[in-house]
Amino acid sequence: MKPFISTLEEENITIDRLPVEILQINIGHLCNLACLHCHVEAGPNKKENMEAETVDRIIDLLKKSETIHTLDLTGGAPELNPHFRRLVIAATNMGKRVIDRCNLTVLYQKGQEDTAEFLKDNKVHIVASLPCYSLKNVEQQRGRGVFQKSIDALIRLNELGYGKENSDLKLDLVYNPLGAHLPPSQSELSIRYKQELYDLFGIQFNHLLTITNMPIKRFLHDLERSNQYESYMELLTNSFNPLAAEGVMCRNLVSVSWDGKIYDCDFNQMLDLRHSENPPTIWDIYSFDELAERSIFFDNHCYACTAGSGSSCSGAVIDKTEEVIHG
Ligand code: SF4
Ligand code: SF4
Repeated sequence: MKPFISTLEEENITIDRLPVEILQINIGHLCNLACLHCHVEAGPNKKENMEAETVDRIIDLLKKSETIHTLDLTGGAPELNPHFRRLVIAATNMGKRVIDRCNLTVLYQKGQEDTAEFLKDNKVHIVASLPCYSLKNVEQQRGRGVFQKSIDALIRLNELGYGKENSDLKLDLVYNPLGAHLPPSQSELSIRYKQELYDLFGIQFNHLLTITNMPIKRFLHDLERSNQYESYMELLTNSFNPLAAEGVMCRNLVSVSWDGKIYDCDFNQMLDLRHSENPPTIWDIYSFDELAERSIFFDNHCYACTAGSGSSCSGAVIDKTEEVIHG
């Protein structure tokens, strides 16, 4: 496989950082599910969870930022962290857009009975994973019983006003392929998702985000077990798209781990990839804005972000007309 860096050089592509606009926090690896494709290897027995003083530090740093407009909370299931709500309220009071990457089923966990109302009251943008509108495909990837709970949660969120036309309560769904292939066209699949979910369950949502499976952690182990690693990497490298490369999400995002380390993205975080031997943590910086000067650590897993229409936490990077839709 040609190294990702060599492909960038051959294509004469330089990917520089832009001002930091999105702060993505991986608040912990605790999750009520243990999905097959999970790049975090999250699960119910995980102990990594952000503590109060780390949350306090993030709130302080967020107050100092002049460029960050979005706090993107991921995990694990972010809602299971005891400091989740405090962080949401603090960021909302600062006027930041807050995203909760919600697995939907967590809303039915003990102690989470009022989480949907909490998200609504704080106008949190919900980005919910639902890899298919069919029970069989969802449960193959996420486990038994997940589909019906996810559908029930979506109906409940709709009842609260989420995902409705003209509502300011945003509900996006995330699709990722079931196996070792690229997602289909985001705009075309979105039409099908909207139609099927509405016809079958009366469910409405705002946008569908298609995300390419990252060949790391649990999905990597699955590829290796099924002897598909080589062919999947070949697919990703052969599908390299220079336009998608120019729009990768790490240009305007920084990612912070549960213990306060700083990375270019959640994937680099899970691989513990950083440039220097003593890279800064949240305790070493004055403001997140100073990170705009740093170079990005690229490696071969980055092919997953640049294949086909590209892939980011906001879905495809370019649409069918080859227009960049996310930077
Ligand atoms: S993919 Fe999401 S819902 Fe599934 S185990 Fe990982 S963090 Fe949990
Ligand atoms: S995996 Fe690579 S290209 Fe994708 S966001 Fe992370 S650093 Fe950027």
